[in-house]
Amino acid sequence: MIPALLVDPPADGQHRFQRRMRSGDTGKKTTGGILDTMKKKRRYGDSLKEQLLASARDRLHRFILAGGAIRGAIVNGTRMVNEMRENHDLGILETLVLGRAYLGAGLMAGDLKGDDRISIRIECSGPIKGLTVEANAFGEVRGFLDRVPIPIEKPVENFDLSPFFGAGFLSVTRYLQNSKQPFTGRVILKYGNIAQDFAYYYFTSEQIPAAFNLSIKFDRKGAVTGAGGLMLQAMPDADDATAADLEDRLARLPSLGNILSDPGDPQAFIQDHFGTYAPRFLGNHRVEFMCHCNAQGLRNLITLLPIDELKDILEKGPFPLEIRCHFCNTPYRFSETAIRRIYGKRYPHN
Ligand SMILES: [Zn+2]
Repeated sequence: MIPALLVDPPADGQHRFQRRMRSGDTGKKTTGGILDTMKKKRRYGDSLKEQLLASARDRLHRFILAGGAIRGAIVNGTRMVNEMRENHDLGILETLVLGRAYLGAGLMAGDLKGDDRISIRIECSGPIKGLTVEANAFGEVRGFLDRVPIPIEKPVENFDLSPFFGAGFLSVTRYLQNSKQPFTGRVILKYGNIAQDFAYYYFTSEQIPAAFNLSIKFDRKGAVTGAGGLMLQAMPDADDATAADLEDRLARLPSLGNILSDPGDPQAFIQDHFGTYAPRFLGNHRVEFMCHCNAQGLRNLITLLPIDELKDILEKGPFPLEIRCHFCNTPYRFSETAIRRIYGKRYPHN
């Protein structure tokens, strides 16, 4: 049994190609019974109409306040969080932790361009242990918890998750197409609250005063009915009084998850709560739980395994060999013949 392997995002051309291929072929089987690409377990909504509506609603809207002194973004990620939960088989606590990270990453990626992407990693001493989330300029978000389920001794009583994080670090890596090297900023996990820790990261590592509100609403049965996030950043020309007032307003906002359950209109929400700062909307784009892993990528990783491990797999199986992508939990299956072929290509004389 080998662990799930991390899959690197494919190169540019492949990325676009798969974006086009994606719509009709999720879960399609190719010869040999290998799943082609990421498979979503279940799309949000029962009917096609519901799915299309949910898909249309999952968007990120960018805006400015006070003539550009404040930049902001608001995201509805209800469908994204539901699909994330389905694929990773998450309970309520796990959905809350990883879902907030997805919403936060989606917001952080709001100003990326082209093939830029961002990767967020939390490592901590509490039962959560760690998580990784990536987002790109297309509004695609993927990522995983280090532990599922999160081992806890008693049921969660409120939405304060800090005891489950404990002490740790938050790292944010930006892969920008115009710079040769990725840039990583790292701060301590000060609050054990993703919204506050993301804000702390911006302030400490990028010298930008920022505030986040990340919200996931569950119904009585534990189903996610709304998930949304809001981010505000003060530009250098924002005065302290404005920044303080906005931070205060953001802390007192009604639950975004609740509003978006309804289904509320994110632009109207901004107008209602920040109207005195003359909001101006700059644009919007979709957000989606999406991973560009594929069988070929996994096959390449198997090819790179140490020869002993490859031999062990070949001898012990079991076949088909199942390997899951960490980021989206899609299983990929490889037949004994396929593994033998990989082994034979690499070591033709063994
Ligand atoms: Zn994947």
